[in-house]
Amino acid sequence: KAKSLGRGQYQIFTPEMYDIAQQLLILQTDLYRAVQQEEFTVYYQPIIDLKENKIAGFEALIRWIHPQKGMISPGEFLPLAEETGLICEIGSWVMKEACSQLSQWHEQGFTDLKICINLSAQQLNQSNLVTEIDGILIKNQLQTNSVKLEITESSMMQDLQTTKVLLGELWQRGIKLSIDDFGTGYSSLSQLQNFPVNTLKIDRCFLKNIGGDGENLGLVPVILSIAEVMTMDVVAEGIETSEQLEQLRKLGCHFGQGFFFAKPLDAETATQLIHDNPTW
Ligand code: C2E
Ligand code: MG
Ligand code: MG
Ligand code: MG
Repeated sequence: KAKSLGRGQYQIFTPEMYDIAQQLLILQTDLYRAVQQEEFTVYYQPIIDLKENKIAGFEALIRWIHPQKGMISPGEFLPLAEETGLICEIGSWVMKEACSQLSQWHEQGFTDLKICINLSAQQLNQSNLVTEIDGILIKNQLQTNSVKLEITESSMMQDLQTTKVLLGELWQRGIKLSIDDFGTGYSSLSQLQNFPVNTLKIDRCFLKNIGGDGENLGLVPVILSIAEVMTMDVVAEGIETSEQLEQLRKLGCHFGQGFFFAKPLDAETATQLIHDNPTW
């Protein structure tokens, strides 16, 4: 904030600001320790094939098990991880963990399951990212097409040229790519068309009105048409009610994810879920 006032200007450092700064510093120290001690765990949220009515795969979502504060959600520490550059190490850890879990599920006979892993903007600039992914897939004996990487629109747009090269390399290997939180970024459709991408994930903010008593479907039908024209798959994020599900099915949306099906689950509970073979 103070920086934005410009050179030669300064702002009084209030006790409140001091408090915030100190808390950030503590969090940062904690985060370094967390990376060293691997205080993280991966939760898995099922992605449902709405046509086949079965689990198509899981999205890997990181959690930090803080020794004093308990479970901390990614929204609270990923921004700091991005700023400090720790995100690359954390991202590698998630990739290893999630791929090892998927390989166990495949060994249990669930060979069709896919894993979706979020990539941060910084990881897109990580020079050894592709080599690292290659290594993790080989180690876990996974086919490249079992893995989907989720990238938000805004991270994609940060460095167009680097991202295009990277996505091209991943695409050539058969690794699938999703645009996360689609519709909330500022990318133009003409830009998006230049990226090799398999899937659009519709941000949950677009599902708010869908399934209510009104006929207001908002932008969901529009996004579904865009995906169709671009021959991409679609996942609707944040399905919370049966009415939303019904409406999305009517509109022909192929995949869905949300609390209506399941919250993000620890590995054991997720494993139980696939063995239970639920339908919706
Ligand atoms: P995202 O990739 O868009 O993941 C979906 C988020 O929506 C998850 O939050 C999930 O718990 C939440 N969600 C799913 N269904 C529902 C629903 O029906 N209602 C509501 N209200 N929320 C729902 P989570 O786990 O807190 O993660 C937040 C974000 O943090 C993720 O958004 C993703 O951008 C980031 N993230 C999580 N794990 C990782 C990771 O391993 N690496 C990176 N780079 N980012 C991650
Ligand atoms: Mg995601
Ligand atoms: Mg999302
Ligand atoms: Mg999101």
